[in-house]
This record gives sequence, C-alpha cells and structure tokens, in this order.
Amino acid sequence: MKVNSAEIVISAVRPNQYPEGNLPEFALAGRSNVGKSSFINKMLNRKALARISSKPGKTQTLNFYLINEILHFVDVPGYGYAKVSKSERDAWGKMIETYITSREQLKAVLLIVDLRHPPSKDDVLMYDFLKHYGIPVIIIATKADKIPKSKWQKHMKITKETLELKAEDSIILFSSETGEGKDKAWSVMGSFMK
Ligand code: GDP
Repeated sequence: MKVNSAEIVISAVRPNQYPEGNLPEFALAGRSNVGKSSFINKMLNRKALARISSKPGKTQTLNFYLINEILHFVDVPGYGYAKVSKSERDAWGKMIETYITSREQLKAVLLIVDLRHPPSKDDVLMYDFLKHYGIPVIIIATKADKIPKSKWQKHMKITKETLELKAEDSIILFSSETGEGKDKAWSVMGSFMK
C-alpha cells in the first residue's frame, strides 16, 4: 500500500476516548525496545512519527494513527520494562484487556518480536493472551538485517516453535533498516480488510 497520509489522531486510555467510526484497526504490540516505533515509521514512510525509543515507563496510552483515511494503527505501549511498578503494570494490563475485548473494528494484532532471539516469556504470554480472546495475530520478526540471510529460516523456525504459532496466524520476516517484509506486511493486513 502506498501511504499518502498518516497522522496521530488521539492518545486514549478509556473506550470513550477511542476514535469514532468503523475503520478497520490493527494494533501493534511488543516488548520495550524491540523495534516497534521503527516498524511503524517504516510502514508509514516517516522518520519519526512514532517516536523511536520513547522513554519506557512514562504515560501509558494507546496512540491511534489514521492512515490514508481508511484504517487505524494503534500503538500499544511496550511491555517487559523492568522498572515499571506493579500498579503501572496492572493499569497497562487493564487498558489492553479492555481494548482487546471491546474493540469490534480490531482486525488483528501485529506482535513485534526480535528475529535474533527466541521470543521472551513476555512475548509468549502476550501471544497466549491474544489467542485466549480469539484475536488474529501477525508476528513481525524484526531486525532481520542484524543476522545473515543464511540463518533467517532457522531463526524463523525457532520463533514459530517458541510461540507455538497457530496455523491461522502469520509470521513475517522484517527489517526497518532495509524495508524487508514491508510489502508482505501490507498485503497480509489487506487480507483482513476485505
Ligand atoms: P521500540 O521501543 O519498540 O519502539 O523500539 P525502537 O523502534 O525505538 O527501536 C529500538 C532500537 O532498535 C533503536 O536503536 C532502533 O534504531 C533499533 N532498531 C529497530 N528496528 C531495527 C531494525 O529492523 N534493524 C536494526 N538494525 N535496528 C533496528
């Protein structure tokens, strides 16, 4: 997809702050520092729309981006940051659970993981949580440029096996450096918009 316009429309915590209307929506989740902002920026052809390495542990909001007036991206705050207090973690969990369980226009969650390493315990928990609620998941295995091409398939296999990826879910090898996987990511999202 050619992105002609992308703008942040609202930072929301509660459902009454989510944007109105019925545009298809894709949420983006991943542990802090995995490369989620870089993924969003690459997909939207922007340098710094989603702030790269925005400080973890600050205000936790769902950031809604309107793209080409036809869909929303929802940036979910990163998880797994050690210095977050229990009450902050609980608030994060509640916010995500409310969003996931109430948002009818949510088509799929793009779960960003690091291709270099097996998914973390938190990544597996997040995947299981989404599956528990029956949400389709698209795994984005990013930072592919950091490992040799000859090892890509081995790392993809480890990622799938660690997550116990279900047959209905897809996995896309990605790099925000090279743009590897970008067209495929748009095309898989497109299949949810028909
Ligand atoms: P976030 O906390 O998940 O939003 O992660 P960021 O997008 O801020 O990325 C964390 C760090 O990883 C930054 O230094 C990025 O430049 C780097 N990074 C993210 N994606 C890639 C990638 O695909 N390839 C490489 N080489 N570095 C990446």
